[in-house]
Amino acid sequence: MKKGLVIIGAGIIGVMTALNLVEKGYRDIVIVEKKYPGSGGSFRCATGIRASFTSLEHVELMKRSIQLWPLLSEKYNIPYARHGYVWLFTREEDLEMFRCIVDFHNKNGVPTRIVSPEEIAELVPTIKTDQLVGGVYDPLAGKASCFKALLNPLAYILRKGVKLVESTTVYKVLIESGRARGVLTDKGVIEADKVLVAAGYGSKKILRESIGVDLGLRNIPKHALITEGYQGVFKPLLIDWETSSYIVQVLHGGFLIGSSLPEEPDKPPRSRLKYPVKAVNVWIRYFPWLAYTNIMRYWTGYYVMTPDHHPLIGPLSTVENLYIATGFSGHGFMMSPAVGEVMANYILGEKPNVPLVEHLLPDRIIKGRLVKEIAVFG
Ligand SMILES: Cc1cc2nc3c(=O)[nH]c(=O)nc-3n(C[C@H](O)[C@H](O)[C@H](O)COP(=O)(O)OP(=O)(O)OC[C@H]3O[C@@H](n4cnc5c(N)ncnc54)[C@H](O)[C@@H]3O)c2cc1C
Repeated sequence: MKKGLVIIGAGIIGVMTALNLVEKGYRDIVIVEKKYPGSGGSFRCATGIRASFTSLEHVELMKRSIQLWPLLSEKYNIPYARHGYVWLFTREEDLEMFRCIVDFHNKNGVPTRIVSPEEIAELVPTIKTDQLVGGVYDPLAGKASCFKALLNPLAYILRKGVKLVESTTVYKVLIESGRARGVLTDKGVIEADKVLVAAGYGSKKILRESIGVDLGLRNIPKHALITEGYQGVFKPLLIDWETSSYIVQVLHGGFLIGSSLPEEPDKPPRSRLKYPVKAVNVWIRYFPWLAYTNIMRYWTGYYVMTPDHHPLIGPLSTVENLYIATGFSGHGFMMSPAVGEVMANYILGEKPNVPLVEHLLPDRIIKGRLVKEIAVFG
């Protein structure tokens, strides 16, 4: 088989890139997926979407994504709601630091604001606020169904002629005379003019095998659980900054909780009894009623981290026609609409329509041009 473009990985990033290409009339695409679409990070995510970051690159990328989410929702029937985020602070020094961050947001078009414990109680029915010194409200933030966001556009592009090859592992990108010419898989070679590595946790290994470096990628195991579903209790996603934990009532009603445990990079993620204990203990301080809800499911997955917590997006300068979109450091779902758009720009030889993403080219890691972000949690 010879194609125009091979996309490695049928996660949200590979699918959104293919969708943008199809919408621009480019359909000569095969997506090669090791297991099944969504089986990596994309179906394990907490569905959160926000622009309240601390780097201009992230803010600009997310402002564009937040413009696109309602359009995608309408066109591809993806449940999406702009329900906001509330960042919760128990320590004065954290609230002080976030005053500067809110200032930075407001100067750059993100309308966050500091809120008092009383306002938090209005935004978040049933919350106990006695240990809070304040919070930050991000009204642009929201959530969407991670299942429909991937499966509905995928069904559309398959109808338009994109090919999907499942249960097939890519070992490496084939490179000849400094140019990508296809991929080697466990089922043979697929030749192509261009290759996009969008393989989430698998990208590190593929890059090492193909170009000899892994660009500083680290797969960090993460944990999440979900309770039985209830009718709407509170709308915003909440972040407990002190414990790096979050809770969100997802659109189908369950309370999804994420909280970080110390983990070694690149180890297979495994369930740990410690996890539900920690997650529940963080959130029953705020919602004592949570102690009486049943946990339905507990799962693990990876955050694919880069040294500066920003994704690697764009072409690789050392290999012609090889593109990378990975290392989303826990934010790939929310960014996928804008990333799909800029990756389609790059693949078609256009300028990215979010110009600041040029600071996020994969080569920056080798050149030591890192970009700073501190608002990472979970
Ligand atoms: C617990 C948890 C909560 C999260 N919450 C959020 C959130 O609220 N908001 C947010 O924006 N992000 C969140 N994330 C991060 C988000 O899920 C990821 O950033 C996003 O899904 C990355 O998408 P992707 O397409 O790059 O990778 P993936 O979804 O992992 O897709 C990559 C695909 O490549 C395939 N693959 C791997 N290796 C190979 C190979 N060798 N050959 C062929 N195929 C291969 C995989 O099977 C996979 O299907 C969360 C992640 C976790 C684990």
